[in-house]
Amino acid sequence: MILHGAGVTVGAGCHGVGMDSTEALIARLASTVSGAVITPEQAEEYAVARLTEASHPDVRPLAIVRARDVADVRAVVDAARGSGTVLAVRGGGHSAAAHGTVEGGLVLDLSGLRGLSIDPDSRTARAGAGLTAGDYVRAAGEHGLATGFGDTAAVGIAGITLGGGVGLLSRRYGLTIDALLSAEVVTADGRVREVDADREPDLFWALRGGGGNLGVVTAMTFRLDDVSQTTGGPLVLPATPDVLAGFLAAAGRAPRELTTIATLMPCPPVPFVATEHHGSPVLFGTLVHVGPPEEAEQAIAAFRALATPLADLIRPAPYADLLGWEEIPRMTFVSRTNFLERVDEQLAADVIRAVADGPGPTRLVQLRVLGGAISDPAEDATAFGFRDRSMVSYLSCMATGPDTLAEATQWADDLLAALDQGDRAAYVNFLGSPGPVAPADAYPPATWERLRAVKAAYDPGNLFRHNHNIPPATG
Ligand SMILES: Cc1cc2nc3c(=O)[nH]c(=O)nc-3n(C[C@H](O)[C@H](O)[C@H](O)COP(=O)(O)OP(=O)(O)OC[C@H]3O[C@@H](n4cnc5c(N)ncnc54)[C@H](O)[C@@H]3O)c2cc1C
Repeated sequence: MILHGAGVTVGAGCHGVGMDSTEALIARLASTVSGAVITPEQAEEYAVARLTEASHPDVRPLAIVRARDVADVRAVVDAARGSGTVLAVRGGGHSAAAHGTVEGGLVLDLSGLRGLSIDPDSRTARAGAGLTAGDYVRAAGEHGLATGFGDTAAVGIAGITLGGGVGLLSRRYGLTIDALLSAEVVTADGRVREVDADREPDLFWALRGGGGNLGVVTAMTFRLDDVSQTTGGPLVLPATPDVLAGFLAAAGRAPRELTTIATLMPCPPVPFVATEHHGSPVLFGTLVHVGPPEEAEQAIAAFRALATPLADLIRPAPYADLLGWEEIPRMTFVSRTNFLERVDEQLAADVIRAVADGPGPTRLVQLRVLGGAISDPAEDATAFGFRDRSMVSYLSCMATGPDTLAEATQWADDLLAALDQGDRAAYVNFLGSPGPVAPADAYPPATWERLRAVKAAYDPGNLFRHNHNIPPATG
């Protein structure tokens, strides 16, 4: 393989002599990994490979390495550690902070790790870290089984799992991490470890909520749950303060078989909502019920009674069909998140006004009522704390480009302040680019200290720092 490094052509396998460190690094990678090493010289491929969801359009990594197996992952980890180069680990590329790419650093792209083995008898699945939620859920669905990831098919299973995983089955079956049985992880020292509740339990604890801080996860074993009967779909309602407050109150009272997401946004030009509503705020309710359709009808009746729906697409359907499968166009956006306890009509009115009047091509506010199985485990059972919170918010404002980012950021920060109910806690998977909420806010204080200690044990040099970073404990 001949690789065209920064300004010169280097033959694979030539190490060091006469080359600057960048060229040596690229040459070393090209000679040690079996997957593609994409550099700026491969202009067409590089132009696509360097970007992720939410990334700055000008971001230029040194190289993107597409790992084909665990040996490739080890080679990249060793190369990044040896050279001091910043390493971005990419699964599905959906980090709201664009952590799946990095200016001037190495990107380790895991999307080639796509093995999936489903055992319906033991109700477990072994999955490669490069799979998306959609890949996994579609395949498991053939057996009437699933693991609950998020609401969107394109999100990577490892990224969402490592942060916790709040999805459409969460009130019934818990967070994604509650279904994680074991993980194969390449740690900063280049070792491959299989960890679970018995083998390196501290690392396994930290992986379940600590994000990408502890190592590169290459495969995971999950529990599979019964989704042989599911009912759901979008219920589009008028965005009025009483309807929004009523939706959230009904979601809190609902049986745990029903999980909901309330999304306020200017209505996109979807064919199932009358054109007169396009562009104005509407409430997209996403509802998923696990269980017999008659019980689903009962649980959902309270939501249908809130107002005459603008669209009602709720029906019995395979769980996989209830995920969002639309390709989301890549664009720059700003995200914020917090936990909150209640939304009364006054706050609902403020949220609707912000969605109506905000900047950028579009913007949204999601409010997800938690509870049910999410709050069954003890707060310190995993590195995801805050299991007792009632609701999590996700605010996002699109920008047309870098020049309008400031306006989008101001909108998101102002709305976050309006939603502030005195709780600084945040959900790490919804944290966007740096803002008023820091990574430490995503963990209860004791969890943060324990995470820092585990980080010090497994990544004392903070190799895995291009993320919502947990600095290793010192001293
Ligand atoms: C459209 C959209 C919908 C979403 N819906 C939900 C939802 O319903 N519920 C929810 O909880 N979250 C949701 N999220 C947030 C999502 O869970 C996080 O952004 C998650 O980190 C994305 O994972 P990824 O692999 O797709 O992203 P990437 O950008 O590829 O990875 C994000 C970060 O995760 C870490 N990471 C990823 N893979 C690995 C690995 N194998 N080993 C080690 N570290 C790794 C790295 O630190 C990386 O920087 C959503 C995000 C988007 C953009």
